[in-house]
Amino acid sequence: MSAHIGVTGLAVMGANLARNLARNGYTVALHNRSVARTDALLAAHGGDGDFVRTETLAELVESLERPRRVLIMVQAGAPVDSVIADLVPLLDEGDIIIDGGNSFYEETRRREESLRAQNLHFVGVGVSGGEEGALNGPSIMPGGSKESYDSLGPMLEKISAKYNGEPCCAWVGTDGAGHYVKMVHNGIEYADMQVIGEAFDLMRSLAGIEPRDQAGVFREWNTTDLASYLIEITSEVLEQEDETTGRPLVDVVVDSAGQKGTGRWTAISGLEVGSPVTAIAESVFARSISSQRELRAVTNATFHAGIDETLSATEKYGSPEDRQDFVEDVRKALYASKLVAYAQGLDMLVAAGEEYGWELHLKAIASLWRAGCIIRADLLDTIMKAYDAPRDQQPKNLLLAPEFNEAINECLPAWRRVVAAAATYGVPAPVFSSSLSYYDSLRRERLPAALTQGLRDYFGAHTYQRVDKEGTFHTLWSGDR
Ligand code: NAP
Repeated sequence: MSAHIGVTGLAVMGANLARNLARNGYTVALHNRSVARTDALLAAHGGDGDFVRTETLAELVESLERPRRVLIMVQAGAPVDSVIADLVPLLDEGDIIIDGGNSFYEETRRREESLRAQNLHFVGVGVSGGEEGALNGPSIMPGGSKESYDSLGPMLEKISAKYNGEPCCAWVGTDGAGHYVKMVHNGIEYADMQVIGEAFDLMRSLAGIEPRDQAGVFREWNTTDLASYLIEITSEVLEQEDETTGRPLVDVVVDSAGQKGTGRWTAISGLEVGSPVTAIAESVFARSISSQRELRAVTNATFHAGIDETLSATEKYGSPEDRQDFVEDVRKALYASKLVAYAQGLDMLVAAGEEYGWELHLKAIASLWRAGCIIRADLLDTIMKAYDAPRDQQPKNLLLAPEFNEAINECLPAWRRVVAAAATYGVPAPVFSSSLSYYDSLRRERLPAALTQGLRDYFGAHTYQRVDKEGTFHTLWSGDR
């Protein structure tokens, strides 16, 4: 019997996707560089469905129906190129190589172009949802040619997460578009987690609410417009007790956040396509600062907060009657900042679409993130509605959509109070505050960029334009020059 698809790379993600495919009725040929991993998978989960065991890539390719579909799930980077190089001589025109790892979209573009020249399809697929999602239904963002999607799409849709029965999988655009959309998803995820962290820190530092009690706050928030997977699991993380010390586990975890690169790529790409993804970039930098533990050990002992010691935050925000108001303020600041992160991520997709020639549909992309992935949230349904119009009638920025404009107006006074309190009492809130600055920058009629232009023209004769007449101008700013 020919297999419908082959999977090479059977570490946790590849193994779980293979099992997901098999459970959905597909015959899956299995391959891994070291055969032991293939055998371990078959020993543990061979009963999940029809598997074909292979030891070499040649055997894997030999076992497949045509056009052949080979899903690569190896470590991102050079290993992907190495597997592709080994596969190409074994494949025929029209066969499809799929990369479901976290590859950098520029690499996917390069690989797609090279394989297209060899009459092979190369599909970079963004897969979100971690190992659990891979097994039970991830959010899937495929790129590559539309033609390859005709053959591959039904399989991917079948194994994807479902939202009200609709698959969280759809072709998003050519070449690297799938990996790009997944990258932006991860960038938003960074910001989403950072704003949750800022809310946690502020509620504890200013209102004295301990992790166990905050678990209840987040559980309550999960019934509001903040409802999302990340808010849900925050309450579970906060109520976890350390078995050794009996303290909240979050207090014994080292406060240094790791990163694998997708947030950094998003920030870099934002700079490259000229899209101000400040909330995402600040989240990446917040992780970088958290990782500077040696420096922080010194600065922690040296830097002063410069706060009037007679001011006690917990006196101000921690009294039972004020605490409730403050918690509600923080919730609104979190929601507004989260909206900014989404607005920036979606703006960036539009800018990248223009840069790379992808016709990205924001409504469809929002629909893919409604289940299976880490940023799944009730909010995405409303985002879909905001973009449910022909392109020329869509809002130029998510925050311009009437429902979100209204939400921001509702949150604004609280958002400002929280950012002001954070600054007053020396609690860092980089995404709460930079998101508010982003909003205010978009709101202001005039920005100090006029002065920047004056300075640039002063020292570098970079010229400037005037508000009252056409043309390019240069001024001799100083009589001495
Ligand atoms: P991984 O640890 O990234 O990679 C291990 C796999 O790669 C093993 O099968 C290994 O084979 C194989 N490999 C490494 N170098 C190779 C080479 N030069 N030639 C052939 N095979 C090679 O595995 P993973 O954690 O399952 O992740 C797979 C991909 O999914 C990665 O791109 C990762 O970033 C991505 N990922 C995504 C998510 C998500 O939420 N979407 C989560 C985790 C990972 P051996 O067994 O022989 O060593």
